[in-house]
This record gives sequence, structure tokens and C-alpha cells, in this order.
Amino acid sequence: MTHANKRFSSWGAHAALGLLMAILASTSAASDGGQIQFDTDFDSGGGVSVDSRDETHFSLTLEDEQNYSPLGYVHFRLRGVEGKTVSFEFTNLGESRMPSNYRLLYSETPLEGLDYQRMDETVGGGFSQEFQSDTVYIANYLPFPYRNTVEQVTQHQDCEYVTVGVIGRSHKGRDMYAMRISDPGVPDDEKRDIVALTRQHPGETTGSYQLDGMIAYVLDVFRDETRAFDDDYRFHFLPHANPDGIYRGIHRLCTQGYDLNRRWNTDSPVEIRNMKDYLERNVTSAWWGFDLHATTNRTFTSLFYTPAASERYMPIMESIAAHIVSLDNIGHSEASQQARGFYHEALGGSMVVTEKYLYWEEYDADYLRSQGRNFLAEVVAVSPVLRAHASTPH
Ligand SMILES: [Zn+2]
Repeated sequence: MTHANKRFSSWGAHAALGLLMAILASTSAASDGGQIQFDTDFDSGGGVSVDSRDETHFSLTLEDEQNYSPLGYVHFRLRGVEGKTVSFEFTNLGESRMPSNYRLLYSETPLEGLDYQRMDETVGGGFSQEFQSDTVYIANYLPFPYRNTVEQVTQHQDCEYVTVGVIGRSHKGRDMYAMRISDPGVPDDEKRDIVALTRQHPGETTGSYQLDGMIAYVLDVFRDETRAFDDDYRFHFLPHANPDGIYRGIHRLCTQGYDLNRRWNTDSPVEIRNMKDYLERNVTSAWWGFDLHATTNRTFTSLFYTPAASERYMPIMESIAAHIVSLDNIGHSEASQQARGFYHEALGGSMVVTEKYLYWEEYDADYLRSQGRNFLAEVVAVSPVLRAHASTPH
């Protein structure tokens, strides 16, 4: 396989304009002399405001635009901090599930690079950090802005077997993309569909890193000499179920106040309609699905499934859950209003919800990517039982 015989198509090219706008936005505001500037007015900023401050001390209040009750995702920017040690405290840490011994993340490089590291001190009782750059981004979980979710799929649109397109627009007009990876030389009715979607709850950012790992894994196989499963499946990746919520830094809901993963038995809001339309048009032999989530609750369940759809695949689900590490237990319920309910009832496939504990320092971006790769490997390559099921229409 060489790059000379590439076959690909593209349904849209809206990414270039978005990129240009992001660059303009990121260069439009320079810090004035001395005064540190705080804001959340950027792609994926939100979840926190300034209660009071003096020169290098910030008293911050956790808040969510849509009132997520345990509070959650936090991402803010400071400008004018080069060479300064800045101290912080939260006025309402006790209202959130953030442990007092948890350390925030910060980045001293441009937002889109996603180059975050842990602070030196834990949040409980106040904390401080010395910064080397003028501009820093500070967050509680690894951010993954809307712009990056677009780049995540459009960067591969020239690759062999990849089809990337806009499936509709969000309530605020942001493009929603889907990425398909499939060998067009194999008839579609000989392939099973595998779907992965994430960021229905926009603050659950770990799903984007896991999706990164899934996409890389599939592309590796399609480019690899062994071509282990390229004939067998058609992959669909939906990188941003909730673009407006991602952009605004909301933890759980969309900007209109809906929990998208309780709306799959309806045709609104528009984000749900876009995803359902895409799946109904393009998934003809649904096999497996992943709806990648995360949780602020330390004792939550690692994986949820729909009994009628997935009960017979318990060993595979246990293997998937074993990769989650930060949580245990597998849970189930019928859930027509959720993506996994729709995937079963409308399309006939088995979709699982994976969860990840967000306030856990023992992972980085590469770890999350390897998790996504491992999730998918349990379905496509590892289990001979699954392979047998996958080759049998059901
Ligand atoms: Zn969720």
C-alpha cells in the first residue's frame, strides 16, 4: 500500500475558515502592562468566574452556565503572568466533587497544542504556581476545544479510505462532522458498522482523547501490511455531539439546556437530529457502538449497556470495562432516550457507554488514547467469539 493510489472524498471544507477565525481570535488580545487579565471567552473556556482579586491573587467561584449541580468542567485563561507567581483559591470547592488533594492542569503554549501539565500544589486551602509565559490556560480536566474536534477528523480527510463530511450544524451554527473509514473495494453489505461518538456531555473531555486513539488504531490497520480487519467493518466517528456546549465550556448540557443523551427518542434539538439522520442513512448493518463519557463521581459505574442489545456479549463488555481502570462495575438499563437505546432500537446494534473518572491524576493524553485503542481492539481484533458474531448478521 502506498500513498500514490489514494482514494478519498470529502463532503465539505469548512475547517479552513474556522482555523483562520481561531487564529485571528487568538492574536487579537494582548495583555496590557502589569495587570493580569482573566477570561473564559475562548473556545472551550468556561465553568469559573472571579469572585475577587488583587494583583497576583485570584479568588475564584466554580459555576456552570447550565447549572450542572456538582459543578464540573473548568477552563480559564490568564494573560500578563510571565515571571509571576499567581495564587488561587476557590470560594465553593465544597459544592463540587473536586477532591481537595487534586491538582489543576495548566498550559503555557497556544490553546490548540493541548500541552497541559499538573500544577505543583493541590487545590484544597489555596494554591499557587509560577508561570514563565505571558499567557496560560488553566483547567481541571484535559481540555479538547471544538476547534480540535474538527481538526481531529478533517486532518485525515486526504487519507485513503477516509470520508469526512459535515452532517449538519449546531443550534449556534457550528459545523458537525462525521468521519467514515471503510474500504470501498468491499461491498457495504459485507461489512459491519462500528460507531463511536463522544462529547454529548461536553465537559467529559476524556472521550475526545479516547476517540483519537480509536481513529489512529483504525488508520494504522488500514495502512498496515497485515490489513487485519479492513475488509470487515465500516467505522463511523462522530467527534462532537455537542459543539456549542464544548465551545462554551459547559459540563453536561447544551446551550439550550438539554441533556442530549436523554433526547434520542425525539428529533430535537438539532444536534440529535443531525446525528440520527447521519446514522440512519449510513449505518446499514450496525454491529457495535461506543458512546464515550466520563464522570465526576468517584464511585460511578464504568460501563453501561442495554440488555436486549448486548447481554450476549458480556465477556466482551467486561474486557472493555477492564481498560477503564478508574472505575469498576458494569451497569445496565433499557434506555430509549439514550444513544445506545437508539442504536439498538432503530439500527439493531449493541452500543455501550463507557465512563472515566475525571478527577484522577493517574492518566495523561497518551494513556487515554491507548484506552480508546484498547476499547476498539476488544471488538474488532481480539476476541474470536466476537469475530464469529461479527460475521453473522443478527
Ligand atoms: Zn456523560
